[in-house]
Amino acid sequence: MAFSGALTLTDLNDFITPSQSCIKPVEQTNATPKHQSEGLASTEIRVDSDGAYYEVAMDGLKTKSGPQQQKLQAADISLNDCLACSGCITSAESVLISMQSHTEVLNFLASNPEDICVSHKVPVLSIAPQSLASLAASISSSSTSTPLPLHRILRRVEVFCKKVLGFEHVFDTTFARHLALQEHIREFRERRSGQGRLPMLASACPGWVCYAEKTHGEMLPFISRTKSPQQVMGTLVKEWMATKWHKSPSQIYHVTVMPCYDKKLEASRQDFYNDVYSTRDVDCVITTGELELMMREKDWDLSVPVEGEIADEIAGEANVAEPPLPTDSIHLPELISHPGTSSGSYLHTLIRSVVQDHPHALDLSVRNIRSSDYEEYTLTDRSSGEVVFRGAKCYGFRNLQNLVRKVGKEAGIQVGRGAAGRIGAMRGRAIKTKKGDTSAAGSTDKTYDYVEVMACPGGCVNGGGQLRPVAKAADKATDAEGFKRDWESSGVKIDEEDIGRIQGQSGKWGDKEWTKRVEVVYWHELPTPPPSPTPEGDSGSEKILSHLVDAKTQMADKLSTRILAETCQLNGDEKAVSWIDDMDQSAEGRRQKLFRTQYRAVESEVIGLAVKW
Ligand code: SF4
Repeated sequence: MAFSGALTLTDLNDFITPSQSCIKPVEQTNATPKHQSEGLASTEIRVDSDGAYYEVAMDGLKTKSGPQQQKLQAADISLNDCLACSGCITSAESVLISMQSHTEVLNFLASNPEDICVSHKVPVLSIAPQSLASLAASISSSSTSTPLPLHRILRRVEVFCKKVLGFEHVFDTTFARHLALQEHIREFRERRSGQGRLPMLASACPGWVCYAEKTHGEMLPFISRTKSPQQVMGTLVKEWMATKWHKSPSQIYHVTVMPCYDKKLEASRQDFYNDVYSTRDVDCVITTGELELMMREKDWDLSVPVEGEIADEIAGEANVAEPPLPTDSIHLPELISHPGTSSGSYLHTLIRSVVQDHPHALDLSVRNIRSSDYEEYTLTDRSSGEVVFRGAKCYGFRNLQNLVRKVGKEAGIQVGRGAAGRIGAMRGRAIKTKKGDTSAAGSTDKTYDYVEVMACPGGCVNGGGQLRPVAKAADKATDAEGFKRDWESSGVKIDEEDIGRIQGQSGKWGDKEWTKRVEVVYWHELPTPPPSPTPEGDSGSEKILSHLVDAKTQMADKLSTRILAETCQLNGDEKAVSWIDDMDQSAEGRRQKLFRTQYRAVESEVIGLAVKW
């Protein structure tokens, strides 16, 4: 399996052990015998040649269960335990990652019975646009050459997945993102009207959300509850498409291709497990690198055009004006563009929604706080000068730490440092807010209403599972973390290609030039205006709104309304409802279940083993 640079280990001694403080609680019921000195162990642990563990009494004493030697049961550590812990996270994630790998996908496809058998599962693959951009960038001959449009890469991936691997359906995830963004707008409006806490923080990035859960349990009220595009795609495939295909959710095997490993953790969350059918919304997540590895293993050359890819593209564009919407077909609009950021455009979508709702013209100003990874966006009423909305885009853990402290301080929360951070007694000390005040702390100096938070510097185009640039000669003496390595004297004989693989595909993770290249490819040939509203010359609300409507978006809106009515079992005429309108109570209940998450606060006060190895 191709690990990203971020996960490559420099020393191979990372077996399953708690490395810092494992939070898995241990109950110690037996008191230390009187004759035994404090701090001295009365038993020791032995491992036999089969790897079984035994507790063995020392000096003729007995183990707590009686006999001199007692076989121990294997510890049962769930994903929730791992998410709650910062100690052995590398090992635990490695285990999870090996369970969600491209070999798992290949094994499943090889063992999937013929479609005439009842036990056959429909294999479906959904790929993120950032992964397509990474693949497109990797086959461009140089940084100055014209990149291939994402449509063509999608066609080639589709042909590979269907003809070589055996998938029956291949989609991109931009339509799911379209639904997620609409649900996001709805949730933001709910919070603004007082049914939730502001600022609202984006929930699409599991890297950041897992971090917040682990370290700042009480921060959860701020995190959006809207499902990420990956999980909305899971709902679409296992709920909506399953019904169309007359299948149960467990008769579908859904694989996603994502730009990072954290998406594997996200798909494994308990929230996304269907108890009734014992299946997950997404069965297996592979990274862009793993998909590329599969292509290499199967001798598939992505740079070679597939039959009809240009004709398909032209036909696709022609169909956009009058989209076919037969009620029983599964025809998702492809590669819908959401102008803003290449990480999902959450902030920009909300900005456009605020502009649309406001009765007067608004001006947008953009302030660069530290770098392009931390920017502040402010909407001001042109006539009154009142600040109507303030949001930020905040990428990378360094910026994230600062942001978490800022938001915590403004909300009266004491935020600790590092993994041990915890929340103080916020309830008693929370700053009182004025009734109807939509800012976090009720300050006259308006605080953030929304923050698009992403864990990776540069956002999803720079995810840990993306492809790397070809390693330069100078990079070959260092590992992915920048340490000098003498591979040969360490007894490792490697060829040129292996060096690239050790470093996480090729060059280093976070290469700024490369990230810029993938970003350019991501936005290449999109039928929309430039991605980000700029502070000068493009700040009026008319300009911002002009990004809203294109034919494909209209088609996506129509289809999303239909899907909402069908999945939420809405009674009556679904044409009367747009995604963000209210529905009847039972339909709203279904919406919450299908398109929102239920984060669980992690217990922070537990007895730790505190074992140092
Ligand atoms: Fe994954 Fe990074 Fe994107 Fe977060 S920012 S979803 S960790 S690629």
